Amino acid sequence: MSLRLIANWKLNGSRNFNYQWAREFFKNFHGQNFSSLGIAPASLYIDHIKGLMGDNGIEIGAQNIDTETIGARTGEISASMIEDMGCKFSIIGHSERRIFFQESNQIIHQKLIQANQNSLVPVLCIGESEEENQKNITNKVLEQQIVEALKGLIELNSLIVAYEPVWAIGSGKTPNPEDINSVHEMIKDVVQSRFPKIGLESVLYGGSVNLINAASMFKQRNIDGALIGGASLDGKEFALIANLFNDLKV
Ligand code: PEP
Repeated sequence: MSLRLIANWKLNGSRNFNYQWAREFFKNFHGQNFSSLGIAPASLYIDHIKGLMGDNGIEIGAQNIDTETIGARTGEISASMIEDMGCKFSIIGHSERRIFFQESNQIIHQKLIQANQNSLVPVLCIGESEEENQKNITNKVLEQQIVEALKGLIELNSLIVAYEPVWAIGSGKTPNPEDINSVHEMIKDVVQSRFPKIGLESVLYGGSVNLINAASMFKQRNIDGALIGGASLDGKEFALIANLFNDLKV
C-alpha cells in the first residue's frame, strides 16, 4: 500500500528523542503494512531516523524542499539532496510554510516540479483559514490552491493531497468527519477532472488527529489516511493510530 499515514515532526526532535520514539513505536505497532507509514523529521535527522527504523519499508521524507536544484541559496535543501538520502516523499506547501515563510501557490508549483523531477512523491497541503471557513468559501479556496499549484504540471507522476484546515492544525478542533469526507470527494473530483494525467494516489486529512478521533476519520470512505503533527511526536500514540488505520483501512 502507498503512503497513507504521515508523521510531521515539524521543528522537534533530537538524537535522543528519535531513539526513544523508535523504541516506543516498535513496542506498540502491531500492523504488517509498514509501507503505508511515513515520517517527516527535520531534514538534519533523516539519516539518523532511517538507521533507527531499519529496512521494514517505513518511508522517511522531508517537510520541505527548495524551489531550485543547486546554487547560491544559503540554508536551503534541494529535492535531489532529499532523494539522494533515500527519501521517497516531501511535504509541500504546509500552511506553516505559507504563513511564516510567505510561500505562494506559485512557489509551491515550483516545488512540485522539483519533487517530480527528483522522483519524490509530493504531499501537497491545502486548507482554508478560519475566516474563510466561516464565510463558507472553503471549496472555492481549496480549488484555487489546487489549480494554481498544479496548473501546467501535466507530467506529475504521483501526488498525495493533504487537506489541512488551518484552524484545525494544533488547535484540538476538527471539522466533523462527514464534512471532511465531502471536502475530500470534491478535492478528488477537481484533481481528476481538471488534471486527468496526474496520478492522484490519495487524499489525507490533517489537523488535530489523535488516538481519540482517528477511527472516526478512517471510517470515512474518502479519507484515505492522515497527516499528523502533535500526536505523532509520541511514538506510542502514532503506533496506536497506525494500528487503528491497519484495522480499518488496510
Ligand atoms: C500538521 O501540522 O500537519 C498537523 C496536522 O498538525 P496537528 O496534527 O498537530 O494538528
